[in-house]
Amino acid sequence: MSNSSSKAYISEIFSSFQGEGGTVRGSCFGKRQIFIRFFGCNLFMGDYGSSGCYWCDSPHSQAPQQEHFQYELYPNSQVIKKGKNPIDLPCIIKIICNLITPDLHSISFTGGEPLYQKDFLLALSETLNRKGLKYPLYLETNGSIKLDDKMIKNLAPYFTYCCCDIKDKSSKAASNEMHDELIRMELDFLKKFVALGVNTFAKLVITSQTEIKEVEYISKQLAKIRYSDGHVIGLALQPVTLINRNLEKRKEISLEHLHNLFQAAAAFIPADSLTLSIQAHKYLNLL
Ligand code: SF4
Repeated sequence: MSNSSSKAYISEIFSSFQGEGGTVRGSCFGKRQIFIRFFGCNLFMGDYGSSGCYWCDSPHSQAPQQEHFQYELYPNSQVIKKGKNPIDLPCIIKIICNLITPDLHSISFTGGEPLYQKDFLLALSETLNRKGLKYPLYLETNGSIKLDDKMIKNLAPYFTYCCCDIKDKSSKAASNEMHDELIRMELDFLKKFVALGVNTFAKLVITSQTEIKEVEYISKQLAKIRYSDGHVIGLALQPVTLINRNLEKRKEISLEHLHNLFQAAAAFIPADSLTLSIQAHKYLNLL
């Protein structure tokens, strides 16, 4: 894990629309965001006995410490420039400033796994705040990095929104032996972020191989996580989008299975906290 607070290994920086999340609390679906994609993923690096998620949609960002990053020069310019890693705080702030538009809603940290470089993530959040760039921050995480309580308490106040992936067994994000531990970590992360007031929801990518009993178990655990006003944390079920089309036949989900998984979740989670999520940006060929 890279522990520098002044420099980071970044994959991409660009302006686009948040394509995921559906309609639950914490989602920024449809909002203009500046995306900062980090290199490095702890699941790819074998933290839970696998080499990452089967359907990872950003495999180019899984490995840490890659030499170059790409960034969009101006919003919608389609002019993509190349920069050299590691990037420092002044350089990333300058790129962000050039991508600000009147419709900008929030700044999204994604990956890879942004918390893989948690010290830089914290430093960048602090710097944005200090410089008056007080756009809401959105964290997209797999929730499985071990963070001490001090780090969670330092980070959470900077974030308004968070999407935490829950990985079912068909994701192959963990070995069979370590999958329970992965789910436990993710649920623990969700619980802590909600307790600290971050608008957080869980996202579960679903496939033809997602088991009803797993969705039941996950939903039952999520239903215990509530905001201080009693609102149950949101769950977004997202049918898989495969970048390797050859895998599609094995993983694509039937309407019947989609229906059954929703009913399984709804046995525990109120309808208001349950949503369909699609990767809308992929359908529109957005960045
Ligand atoms: S956690 Fe995210 S970046 Fe890592 S392998 Fe899974 S989908 Fe890819």
